[in-house]
Amino acid sequence: MIDEIRNLRNQIATEIGEITSKELLDNFRMKYLVKKGEIQAYFEKMKTAAPDIKPIIGKELNECRQFAEREFKVLQEKFATATETKVDIDMTLPGRRNFNGTFHPVLQTLEDITEIFRSMGFTVAEGPDIEDGYHNFDALNFAPDHPARDMQDTFFVKSDRELLLRTHTSPVQIRVMQSQQPPIRSIMPGRVYRNESINSRSLAEFHQVEGLYIDKNVSLAELKATIMAFAKRMYGEKSKFRFRPSYFPFTEPSAEVDISCYLCGGTGCRICKHSGWLEIAGCGMVHPNVLRAGGIDPEIYSGYAFGFGIERVTLLRTGIDDIRLLYENDLRVLRQF
Ligand SMILES: [Zn+2]
Repeated sequence: MIDEIRNLRNQIATEIGEITSKELLDNFRMKYLVKKGEIQAYFEKMKTAAPDIKPIIGKELNECRQFAEREFKVLQEKFATATETKVDIDMTLPGRRNFNGTFHPVLQTLEDITEIFRSMGFTVAEGPDIEDGYHNFDALNFAPDHPARDMQDTFFVKSDRELLLRTHTSPVQIRVMQSQQPPIRSIMPGRVYRNESINSRSLAEFHQVEGLYIDKNVSLAELKATIMAFAKRMYGEKSKFRFRPSYFPFTEPSAEVDISCYLCGGTGCRICKHSGWLEIAGCGMVHPNVLRAGGIDPEIYSGYAFGFGIERVTLLRTGIDDIRLLYENDLRVLRQF
């Protein structure tokens, strides 16, 4: 009989291990723990056993029952907690999400432009936002009576017009030339300021990236190749480009670069003013007077320079059609990028 009881205990242990639900646990209780259960049946049987082994059987049976009850309680608590947790979950509540921050679209554009030029061997240089008239105009070959010097275009810091908020990133070219000898291969990103009315196409404060390459025998062909290589990586292989002759005081010859309109693909639409083209950059060969101002001998060295408006490029990439949206900090706009 003692062997039977030990077998019963092993059987209970096995069955306990297989209980995976409240229902199975209930079956277990009905089988072993109720008055008509199997353990109680052995207590009945014990009454007919010989008096000398009764205490041994009793001890064995008690241990078996305590074991079954203990295991039963553990499982009962486990299933009870599981049910409670289930009740706590309201499946109709919206989930909690963490919103990852992103770079501002203008900064993303700046980063991408910088990365492309860096891979072509350009370093990054910076200059002050508050410039003097010499670096912003004179050294860049602006004539003393050039209209850009007028109050209409420039924010002057002092009434004597000596200090001003730089109107372009080009003065950094002069500062770079003055501080190092060729070969020079740098891009110069930064904020610029113009006294302009604010509308869907222009702001009084925006960003440019200037590029400067100076060495012996630098040619216009190299300028075109560099701009094209950059533009294909920035706008895709399928984009078409054209160079138009233009005029800037600090380059000679000068050109403006157009890209085929991203919206209509060149057939003409509202964004491209029905021309099929959008202007993305100004560029040219550095004027000998500018090289001289930077302390570089134009008889030995030549170079090219280019400039992009970062907001303009950002509008092209994002399809935003009002430049003011970039600075209103409306999260519904910014979270899209
Ligand atoms: Zn178009």
